Amino acid sequence: MIAPRLEIDLDKISHNARVLVERLIAKGISVTGVTKASCGSLDIARAMLRGGVKGLGDSRIENIEGMRRSGVSESMTLLRSPMLSQTDRVVANADLSLNTEVEVLAGLSRSGQRLDRMHGIVLMVELGDLREGIMPEDLLAIARETVALPNLELRGIGTNLACRSGVSPDARNMAELSALAVSIEDALGLRLDIVSGGNSANLDWALEDSEIGRINDLRLGESILLGCETLHRQPIDGLHCDAITLVAEVIESKTKPTRPWGEIAQSAFGEQKLPVDRGPISQTILALGRQDTDPEGLSPPPGNRVIDASSDHLLVESSARAPEVGSEMRFGLNYSAMARAMASPFVARVSSPQSGRITAPQ
Ligand SMILES: *Cc1c(COP(=O)(O)O)cnc(C)c1O
Repeated sequence: MIAPRLEIDLDKISHNARVLVERLIAKGISVTGVTKASCGSLDIARAMLRGGVKGLGDSRIENIEGMRRSGVSESMTLLRSPMLSQTDRVVANADLSLNTEVEVLAGLSRSGQRLDRMHGIVLMVELGDLREGIMPEDLLAIARETVALPNLELRGIGTNLACRSGVSPDARNMAELSALAVSIEDALGLRLDIVSGGNSANLDWALEDSEIGRINDLRLGESILLGCETLHRQPIDGLHCDAITLVAEVIESKTKPTRPWGEIAQSAFGEQKLPVDRGPISQTILALGRQDTDPEGLSPPPGNRVIDASSDHLLVESSARAPEVGSEMRFGLNYSAMARAMASPFVARVSSPQSGRITAPQ
């Protein structure tokens, strides 16, 4: 079978989405399913929708356009602030976008007028993680400007934590987001229908005995795809952590020394290293490399260890029987390894059981 390939169990992804949707609905929170780590995979988008997510979110307009072309008609949110150069495409394809800059809002408004379409706006607030967001003291003024712009509808506010600095969503910052929603509603005399509290890192907060306040939406990607929360990367009770695996093929299998010989300078990636001499080992090369995934994020089967990687070669040490040339090895993936494998033109995607579709970009 084609290799390397991602094997994607769509039923497990639907299950993960459904369990999270049901647990959060009990708290008055709905789920936006985030497809960006799968490059907007249609199979994964549909699996999330079968699991009951309310709409889809992706950080790249190309992915949203692709899902639209494939017939996805559900609500779609552009998660990364739109580029000023792409506002026409954003208004034409996304229902909502997350925004922080007045110039971009003005651009979206002009595109809306040109295309004769309304576009929904969620203003993102900075609550300490120091990635995207309007400083809280500036939020009301920008909300006021948004409301005044033609063809834009201020639909809500949101925040994003734990992405850049690992700042945890907690009672304090979530209460601040709720309070900001109320103060904007009072000042502008309108109702915000979306108060989006964050991403998979919010699950601990949301599912504990927390004061939910006005938060009524979470944007979930990793927790649906990999079944874990993202503050400590612990598996979530009742979810599958193996919905997506990566399979690669063995192209060399030999017993070799652990220590290189000759004069040692830099390797392909600029490192200089001299491993300790542990005598001969069973060393396998798989046809997979840094161009395809993040080698540090791979979990090989028991008895095997990833010892190195270059652009196209993954080196694995096996403690038991040496894998045969032509055989396959299956790896678990963390978010970084998964996202890069999904984006590699050399890695096929095989979904089961729903579509049986094989996506091999080559
Ligand atoms: C990626 C992203 C998400 C989803 O994050 P996960 O950790 O995958 O749940 C949510 N919101 C924004 C703004 C994002 O960029």
